[in-house]
Amino acid sequence: MKLKHLPSGIVHKGKKDGTTGCGTNTKSQSDHWIFSSQPVSCAKNGCNN
Ligand SMILES: [Zn+2]
Repeated sequence: MKLKHLPSGIVHKGKKDGTTGCGTNTKSQSDHWIFSSQPVSCAKNGCNN
């Protein structure tokens, strides 16, 4: 699945444990994150591979 971070507009890979591929916790501010069908735009390790 992919998750969009609304304040930044960046799309990350989402993991089942509640973090992104690059290690951000999506549960601490869950209202900042929505499911997305857009391509991953995060360039960090873990998302961009
Ligand atoms: Zn990322």
